[in-house]
Amino acid sequence: MSTVTTVVNPATEAAIAEIPVQGVDEADATVARSLEAGPAWRAVAPADRARLMRRFAAQVEEHAEELAQLETGNVGKPISESRDEVGMVAEVLYFYAGAVDKHRGATVPVAGGVDMTFHEPLGLVAAIIPWNFPIAITSWKVGPALATGNTIVVKPAEITPLTALRLAELALDAGIPEGVFQVVVGKGSVVGTRLAEHPDVAKVAFTGSTEVGREVMSRASGTIKRVTLELGGKSANIIFDDADLERAATATPAGVFANGGQDCCARSRVLVQRTVFEEYLALLADAVDAWTVGDPTDSSIKMGPMVTAAHRQVVAGFLADGMGEPGGGPVEAAHRGSVPDGPGFWFPPTVVAPARAEWRMAREEIFGPVVAVIPFDDEEDAERLANDTPFGLSGSIWTRDGARALRMARAVQAGNLSVNSNSSVRVQTSFGGMKQSGFGRELGLEALESYSDVKNVFVSTEG
Ligand code: NAD
Repeated sequence: MSTVTTVVNPATEAAIAEIPVQGVDEADATVARSLEAGPAWRAVAPADRARLMRRFAAQVEEHAEELAQLETGNVGKPISESRDEVGMVAEVLYFYAGAVDKHRGATVPVAGGVDMTFHEPLGLVAAIIPWNFPIAITSWKVGPALATGNTIVVKPAEITPLTALRLAELALDAGIPEGVFQVVVGKGSVVGTRLAEHPDVAKVAFTGSTEVGREVMSRASGTIKRVTLELGGKSANIIFDDADLERAATATPAGVFANGGQDCCARSRVLVQRTVFEEYLALLADAVDAWTVGDPTDSSIKMGPMVTAAHRQVVAGFLADGMGEPGGGPVEAAHRGSVPDGPGFWFPPTVVAPARAEWRMAREEIFGPVVAVIPFDDEEDAERLANDTPFGLSGSIWTRDGARALRMARAVQAGNLSVNSNSSVRVQTSFGGMKQSGFGRELGLEALESYSDVKNVFVSTEG
């Protein structure tokens, strides 16, 4: 049974599209088409598969501005970010096009014969995508899935389906056969759960909240599906007193308020050595004032609105009930940026300082532009605070002491760390979480491993 969802521009609150929402029957029909397309796609010669993927990348480049405008209209992210993300989509497709014929097996020295390994495609991959980076995260799964010979069904978040739908059209225009890359728009509780349980789906590549990830993993267990989970975070940005404080402070807003803080890698806990705490806060206030919030189609703007009114409400709740249990109560903002008047789901960049590590707003993922700044005494204290979370996605270490940078980089339990930088994601390097931020790695050559099974073949040379 199909219904329709109205897609809303979060910066204007205007309806921008009506999209049919699919149910279980349509999800099953999509899976059936995917299975039908599988054998032929798997049989495409490696160089031809790579060529098709390069053509797909070129289609993305040719339609880059259209895709970026679509993403900004749907998610409310600044157009400069959408342009970068669409650029990354093309780069991801080129990268994995180049990997098609380089993902080699091995020959293994054994007694009595020859032993070799093959990387076999899994079959049909279901990709479940969140609303915060719809096109970029879709490409992170489509690239390695197609390169390794799988077919893929993408389920975008119901509120942000536009760029995934357009991407699938561009794949067809590039000559990728029907059924190889499809999109099914539907509710997580209906289509998402169906894909996680469907007996013909070989793998679920999930990005989203830890809570839903837990459910996906449990549903996928019925058919022993391969599962990769890219989940939430509460990453720490650790600033020592020997760091270039001005650089660290100036870089802080982009590290936590980019995409309105609706970023799994948001460094929403800033840990600052007590000796430079006040100096850092003064520098941060200037940096926050320079972090402009407004019309996301303006290329000079740094931050747009929250994705929906309901999400803005959730973010506000982290100030109204910032301390959480025990005791409870609101937290005060030490500094706030400004937002436009009029329509749009605006929320100002907000600094809470000094925050206490046990407060709810310093422990839970806010997914909005709110940062907790917490003082620490020494390296040991910084390590303890950084790791005092069930999450382990990203983080930063700011120091001029190279040995300390390496000690901390090994000690912090997170999948992606940066030193004197807040950058987390590159096409060439692996990305993923530790602890309850998930498992499996996206991007880089590492992603190929979770889209293929290793088959071992022994051939006897005796007799
Ligand atoms: P979400 O978990 O609510 O939804 C993610 C996707 O799962 C959506 O497509 C949704 O429709 C679907 N879904 C919902 N319920 C489902 C169910 N029961 N079974 C199957 N699918 C279901 O997350 P969101 O609000 O869209 O995105 C925000 C979350 O995503 C944050 O926690 C953020 O940290 C996380 N995230 C993680 C990464 C990463 O790479 N680690 C990247 C981006 C976002």
